[in-house]
Amino acid sequence: MKTILVAVLISFAYLTACSQQPTSQQAMHNPYYSRTDTQKLHVDNAAWKKILPDQLYAVSRENATERAFTGKYWKTDEPGTYYCAVCGNPLFRSGAKFASSCGWPSFFKTIRPNSVLYLADNSYGMERTEVRCGRCNSHLGHIFDDGPPPTHKRYCMNSVSLDFEADSMKR
Ligand SMILES: [Zn+2]
Repeated sequence: MKTILVAVLISFAYLTACSQQPTSQQAMHNPYYSRTDTQKLHVDNAAWKKILPDQLYAVSRENATERAFTGKYWKTDEPGTYYCAVCGNPLFRSGAKFASSCGWPSFFKTIRPNSVLYLADNSYGMERTEVRCGRCNSHLGHIFDDGPPPTHKRYCMNSVSLDFEADSMKR
Protein backbone atom coordinates (compact mmCIF):
# COMPACT_ATOMS: atom_id res chain seq x y z
CA MET A 1 0.00 0.00 0.00
CA LYS A 2 2.81 2.34 0.99
CA THR A 3 4.64 1.55 -2.27
CA ILE A 4 1.56 2.39 -4.30
CA LEU A 5 1.15 5.68 -2.47
CA VAL A 6 4.80 6.62 -3.14
CA ALA A 7 4.41 5.68 -6.81
CA VAL A 8 1.29 7.82 -7.09
CA LEU A 9 3.01 10.76 -5.43
CA ILE A 10 6.04 10.47 -7.71
CA SER A 11 3.92 10.37 -10.86
CA PHE A 12 1.89 13.33 -9.63
CA ALA A 13 5.07 15.34 -9.05
CA TYR A 14 6.31 14.33 -12.51
CA LEU A 15 3.08 15.39 -14.19
CA THR A 16 3.08 18.70 -12.33
CA ALA A 17 6.65 19.42 -13.43
CA CYS A 18 5.85 18.56 -17.06
CA SER A 19 2.75 20.70 -17.15
CA GLN A 20 4.70 23.87 -16.33
CA GLN A 21 4.26 26.17 -19.29
CA PRO A 22 6.80 28.86 -20.15
CA THR A 23 6.33 32.64 -20.26
CA SER A 24 2.79 33.72 -21.14
CA GLN A 25 1.13 30.69 -19.52
CA GLN A 26 3.37 31.17 -16.52
CA ALA A 27 2.32 34.79 -16.38
CA MET A 28 -1.11 33.69 -15.20
CA HIS A 29 0.48 32.54 -11.92
CA ASN A 30 2.60 35.67 -11.56
CA PRO A 31 0.85 38.33 -9.42
CA TYR A 32 3.24 41.06 -10.65
CA TYR A 33 2.58 40.46 -14.35
CA SER A 34 0.65 43.29 -16.01
CA ARG A 35 0.75 44.70 -19.53
CA THR A 36 -0.84 47.98 -18.45
CA ASP A 37 0.54 48.77 -14.97
CA THR A 38 3.56 51.06 -15.30
CA GLN A 39 4.32 51.19 -11.56
CA LYS A 40 7.95 50.18 -10.93
CA LEU A 41 8.37 46.85 -9.15
CA HIS A 42 10.68 46.25 -6.20
CA VAL A 43 10.55 42.49 -5.76
CA ASP A 44 13.53 40.59 -4.36
CA ASN A 45 15.08 37.54 -5.97
CA ALA A 46 13.77 35.17 -3.31
CA ALA A 47 10.23 36.12 -4.31
CA TRP A 48 10.95 35.90 -8.05
CA LYS A 49 12.56 32.48 -7.54
CA LYS A 50 9.22 31.13 -6.31
CA ILE A 51 7.32 32.56 -9.28
CA LEU A 52 9.50 32.30 -12.38
CA PRO A 53 10.40 29.16 -14.39
CA ASP A 54 14.04 28.14 -13.81
CA GLN A 55 15.39 29.31 -17.19
CA LEU A 56 13.65 32.67 -16.98
CA TYR A 57 14.93 33.16 -13.43
CA ALA A 58 18.51 32.33 -14.49
CA VAL A 59 18.45 34.83 -17.38
CA SER A 60 16.39 37.62 -15.83
CA ARG A 61 17.74 37.61 -12.29
CA GLU A 62 21.21 36.02 -12.65
CA ASN A 63 22.22 37.48 -16.05
CA ALA A 64 22.53 34.10 -17.77
CA THR A 65 22.45 34.05 -21.58
CA GLU A 66 20.50 31.51 -23.59
CA ARG A 67 22.48 29.74 -26.32
CA ALA A 68 22.41 31.45 -29.72
CA PHE A 69 19.95 30.03 -32.27
CA THR A 70 18.02 28.17 -29.56
CA GLY A 71 15.45 30.74 -28.39
CA LYS A 72 11.91 30.73 -29.73
CA TYR A 73 11.93 34.28 -31.15
CA TRP A 74 15.30 34.73 -32.87
CA LYS A 75 13.82 34.35 -36.36
CA THR A 76 10.14 35.17 -35.90
CA ASP A 77 8.72 38.02 -38.00
CA GLU A 78 5.01 37.90 -37.17
CA PRO A 79 3.39 41.30 -36.43
CA GLY A 80 2.89 41.78 -32.71
CA THR A 81 4.26 43.08 -29.42
CA TYR A 82 7.08 41.73 -27.25
CA TYR A 83 6.53 42.14 -23.50
CA CYS A 84 8.86 41.50 -20.56
CA ALA A 85 8.32 37.84 -19.65
CA VAL A 86 8.86 38.65 -15.97
CA CYS A 87 6.45 41.57 -15.49
CA GLY A 88 4.52 42.19 -18.75
CA ASN A 89 6.06 45.61 -19.50
CA PRO A 90 5.69 46.36 -23.28
CA LEU A 91 9.23 46.42 -24.73
CA PHE A 92 9.33 46.10 -28.53
CA ARG A 93 7.04 46.12 -31.56
CA SER A 94 7.69 43.63 -34.32
CA GLY A 95 8.27 46.54 -36.74
CA ALA A 96 11.52 47.31 -34.88
CA LYS A 97 12.75 43.71 -35.15
CA PHE A 98 15.29 42.85 -37.80
CA ALA A 99 16.95 39.70 -39.09
CA SER A 100 20.30 39.49 -37.37
CA SER A 101 22.83 36.74 -37.84
CA CYS A 102 23.69 36.72 -34.13
CA GLY A 103 21.12 34.07 -33.19
CA TRP A 104 19.14 36.15 -30.69
CA PRO A 105 16.03 38.29 -31.32
CA SER A 106 17.28 41.76 -32.33
CA PHE A 107 15.50 45.11 -32.37
CA PHE A 108 16.56 48.65 -33.32
CA LYS A 109 14.32 50.52 -30.87
CA THR A 110 12.10 50.07 -27.85
CA ILE A 111 8.41 50.99 -27.67
CA ARG A 112 9.09 53.89 -25.25
CA PRO A 113 12.40 55.47 -24.22
CA ASN A 114 11.79 54.33 -20.64
CA SER A 115 10.76 50.79 -21.59
CA VAL A 116 14.27 49.70 -20.60
CA LEU A 117 17.22 50.78 -18.43
CA TYR A 118 20.90 50.73 -19.41
CA LEU A 119 23.79 49.64 -17.21
CA ALA A 120 27.53 49.40 -17.86
CA ASP A 121 28.58 45.74 -17.90
CA ASN A 122 32.29 44.94 -17.72
CA SER A 123 31.94 41.22 -17.08
CA TYR A 124 33.97 38.65 -19.07
CA GLY A 125 36.59 41.31 -19.89
CA MET A 126 34.21 43.09 -22.29
CA GLU A 127 32.83 46.61 -22.20
CA ARG A 128 29.15 46.17 -22.93
CA THR A 129 25.90 47.89 -22.06
CA GLU A 130 23.36 45.72 -20.34
CA VAL A 131 19.66 46.24 -21.06
CA ARG A 132 17.18 45.73 -18.24
CA CYS A 133 13.40 46.01 -18.04
CA GLY A 134 12.39 49.53 -17.03
CA ARG A 135 9.61 48.23 -14.78
CA CYS A 136 11.01 45.18 -12.97
CA ASN A 137 14.77 45.70 -13.46
CA SER A 138 15.23 42.20 -14.93
CA HIS A 139 18.11 41.44 -17.29
CA LEU A 140 16.98 41.27 -20.93
CA GLY A 141 20.22 41.29 -22.93
CA HIS A 142 22.72 43.86 -24.28
CA ILE A 143 22.73 46.76 -26.73
CA PHE A 144 25.31 47.29 -29.49
CA ASP A 145 26.00 50.04 -32.04
CA ASP A 146 25.88 47.83 -35.15
CA GLY A 147 22.14 47.87 -35.83
CA PRO A 148 20.32 49.12 -38.95
CA PRO A 149 19.06 52.69 -39.59
CA PRO A 150 17.48 54.83 -38.31
CA THR A 151 18.95 54.19 -34.83
CA HIS A 152 21.92 51.94 -35.72
CA LYS A 153 21.32 50.21 -32.41
CA ARG A 154 20.99 46.46 -31.91
CA TYR A 155 19.05 45.38 -28.85
CA CYS A 156 20.25 41.79 -28.58
CA MET A 157 17.68 40.05 -26.38
CA ASN A 158 17.17 36.63 -24.84
CA SER A 159 14.01 35.00 -26.19
CA VAL A 160 13.21 33.61 -22.75
CA SER A 161 13.01 37.18 -21.39
CA LEU A 162 10.33 38.06 -23.95
CA ASP A 163 6.64 37.26 -24.03
CA PHE A 164 5.20 37.73 -27.52
CA GLU A 165 1.61 38.40 -28.44
CA ALA A 166 0.72 38.37 -32.13
CA ASP A 167 -1.62 41.13 -33.34
CA SER A 168 -3.81 38.39 -34.79
CA MET A 169 -4.43 37.05 -31.25
CA LYS A 170 -5.87 40.36 -30.05
CA ARG A 171 -9.63 40.63 -30.03
ZN1 LIG B 1 9.92 43.48 -16.56
